[in-house]
Amino acid sequence: MKRAISAFITIISCIKSVAQIPTNGLDVQHYQFTIQLNDSNNLIKGTAVITTKFTKAVDKVVFDLVQKKKDGKGMTVTTVTKKDQEISFTQDAQHIIINESANTTDQNIYTITYEGIPADGLIIGVNKYNHRTFFSDNWPNRARNWLPCNDHPSDKASVEFIVTAPDHYQIISNGIQTEESNLPGHLKLTHYKEDMLLPTKVMVIGAADFAVNYAGSVDCIPVYSWVYPEDKDTGFLAYAAAKNILPWFEKHIAPYPYKKLANVQSKTVFGGMENASAIFYFENSVTDKGLEGLLVHEITHQWFGDNATEKDWSHLWLSEGFATYMTHLYHEEKYGEDSFNNRLKADREKVIAFSKTRNTPVSDTSASNNLMQLLNANSYQKGGWILHMLRRKVGDSLFWQSIRAYYDIYKGSNANTNDLRKVFEDVSKQDLKDFFQEWIYTSGQPELDIKWSYNKKKKEITLIIEQQQKHFFTFSLDITINKSVLKTIDIKDKTTTISFTCDAEPNLIELDPKVNLLFNAALHKGK
Ligand SMILES: [Zn+2]
Repeated sequence: MKRAISAFITIISCIKSVAQIPTNGLDVQHYQFTIQLNDSNNLIKGTAVITTKFTKAVDKVVFDLVQKKKDGKGMTVTTVTKKDQEISFTQDAQHIIINESANTTDQNIYTITYEGIPADGLIIGVNKYNHRTFFSDNWPNRARNWLPCNDHPSDKASVEFIVTAPDHYQIISNGIQTEESNLPGHLKLTHYKEDMLLPTKVMVIGAADFAVNYAGSVDCIPVYSWVYPEDKDTGFLAYAAAKNILPWFEKHIAPYPYKKLANVQSKTVFGGMENASAIFYFENSVTDKGLEGLLVHEITHQWFGDNATEKDWSHLWLSEGFATYMTHLYHEEKYGEDSFNNRLKADREKVIAFSKTRNTPVSDTSASNNLMQLLNANSYQKGGWILHMLRRKVGDSLFWQSIRAYYDIYKGSNANTNDLRKVFEDVSKQDLKDFFQEWIYTSGQPELDIKWSYNKKKKEITLIIEQQQKHFFTFSLDITINKSVLKTIDIKDKTTTISFTCDAEPNLIELDPKVNLLFNAALHKGK
């Protein structure tokens, strides 16, 4: 996803819920959610049919679901059944606890009926044209506000949504629409089914008065634009750009993983939210000048994040770093190297500025109580920079081979940072342990103090390069002098001193002219 509206992030950043790889033993195979929406109030009625296996024997079967609180918001479960038999259950603030044991040979189907006003997760309100809308917004673990589920990216499942709503709404969701039927009482039933395994964070429904356009197909994948009717002309045109973006990914990575792509104008609190095959964008995206980059970012996630998914939140950069860097690579190919370098330089500044406010590594386990904190320059821009430096380290050809191999192994599944490292090592035949340790698991970047001096007699320049941060990085720094002499300096210690011939006194010293390194430096003339 992409941040855009910081005020909203602040509002939801106070949601606290401990998030780590669940120990509940669940391995959900399939969710079927039947949801009833209405126009008189914000109460939703749901039935969740959850097919689950178990990774270990459990005494009780526990799903995530936010319980109704004193403010009246939250879900109340009315019944739980298995094979038409009622099972006793209890609820606590964050869970529904089903009173039966299960073991690793079981595959059980639980039917949970519930209702309530969602406290979050399904945003019910009015859009900018004052029309009532329903937009789910599950990232990172807000699905539990309206869906009983195992709300963690490591447990992926296929999903179907059967939504009944007043018949003026059109419903968008993951996968293929398998039914749309008018019902008595001006109601309409819409059924969507997604067979690919999804993490809960990208399961979605949207209900609004939409205008829908078929923008075209890319390799038999239909691309649609879903926008508010008032924004039909600009919206159809703007979102149709997606069909020119998809081929780039098919060329460089792999076929698109889902059966359709819908780009949806919505009330997501994010700039964009990469819901699988039904990407949500912020309301004013249809006229936003940064829309192309946003489309590329969210479309990247269909491969990286949605289909090849991080195993845990501390590996979020496998989603966001990829989406950030793929957007740069797309720009490099379409707009050239200068555009690419400018984007990387801008990102580098963000990373350096961020490192002064939050001194955490990219793999950040300290944010598990407040996952919104992970929407930061480490996960996005530094993650992107790490891929860039990996590319420079192994070369373009092996970089793309590694990216494709990683996707091929982990599509439909989950990966962590070590999994990515192993793929790059296998493909490149390089030992990358130190590189990953330095850039992913260590905070900060090289902070260099560089003094230079020139000896006119010897026609020699001397550079004294000092790493000022606590941990010393191992890296190469390119320097050009007077736009011509290119020198690559290998640095690993606190202080590196190097002298070399230079015919004229330097009047221009450029550090990292090819934009290969994430670093910060102060350059000054010494005595
Ligand atoms: Zn993203």
